[in-house]
Amino acid sequence: MRGLEGKAAVVTGGGGGLGAASALRLSREGCRVAVVDIDGDAARKVADSLPGEAVAITADVALEEDVERYLDEATNSFGMINFHHLNAGIPGSAGGFPDLSAAEFDRVMAVNVRGIFLGLRGAFRRCRAAEAAGSVVLTASIASLRGSADLIAYQTSKRAVLGLLHGAAMYGGPLGIRVNAVAPGIVPTALFTSAGRADMVRRAATAPLRRAGTPDEIASVVAFLLSDEAAYMTGETVSVDGGSSVVSTVRD
Ligand code: NAD
Repeated sequence: MRGLEGKAAVVTGGGGGLGAASALRLSREGCRVAVVDIDGDAARKVADSLPGEAVAITADVALEEDVERYLDEATNSFGMINFHHLNAGIPGSAGGFPDLSAAEFDRVMAVNVRGIFLGLRGAFRRCRAAEAAGSVVLTASIASLRGSADLIAYQTSKRAVLGLLHGAAMYGGPLGIRVNAVAPGIVPTALFTSAGRADMVRRAATAPLRRAGTPDEIASVVAFLLSDEAAYMTGETVSVDGGSSVVSTVRD
C-alpha cells in the first residue's frame, strides 16, 4: 500500500490478537514497528517474529508515564513515528448492570478510553513539535455502534472511542494528521476467552457473511487507513464485521 514503506509505526496491544496481526501486516508493508504491550514477553515474541526491524516495549496504556515512555522509546529507536495503531483494549467481565462493580467499570474505561486519549495526546504533541504529518487508527468495535446487555463498561468505552475519534480528526486535520477507526465484529482472539464469551463465535454465524472474522482481515483495513491509499479519509469508522452492523436489531 502506498506510503507505508520505510515508515515507523507503533501498535499498542501488539502482543496478541488484532494488534499482532496489524504489526505483522505493517512490517510486511515495509514499516519498522514498535510492538507495545502490557505483557512484555508477548510483545517480545511478536517483535522477534516480524520480517522487518522491530522493537518490543512493555507498557500499560492506561498509565500516563508508561505512554510517554513508550512514545519516547519508539521515537528514539526509529527517529520518528509516522503511524499509531491505538488498539489495546480489554472487554471487562461479562454480566448485567447489577453485577458490574464501579472498580471494574473504571478499569475498562482506563484502558479503552484513557489509554487512547493518552496515546493520541502524545502523538499530537510529538507531531506538533516535529511539524510532521501522521496517521492514526483507533480500534473501536461493533460495540461502538450496537448495544449489549452484559458488556456495559465495554460498550460505553467503545462509544467513547468515537468521541475521541471525532475530536482528534477535527483537531488533527489542519495539521495533516488523519485519525480513523476500525470497528471489528467478532474475531476469535484471547479477548473472548478472557471475557467468558466463547459463545460469541457462534453468534458470528448470524452475520450476513455467516462467519467470524480473522485478525488479518482487520489488519488489512488498518494498513489501508494508515496508508496514503486513504489520504482523503479522516474521522471515519470502518466496520469490518461481515455485515453484522447492518442487521436489524429488531430481528436479532
Ligand atoms: P486480545 O486480548 O487478543 O489482545 C489484546 C492485547 O492487548 C493483549 O496482548 C494484551 O496483553 C494487551 N493489553 C491489554 N491491556 C493492556 C494495557 N493496559 N496496556 C497495553 N496492552 C494491553 O484482544 P483483541 O481481540 O486482539 O482486541 C484488540 C482490540 O480490538 C481491543 O481494543 C478490542 O476491544 C478490539 N476488538 C476486538 C474484537 C474481537 O472480536 N476480537 C471485536 C471488536 C473490537
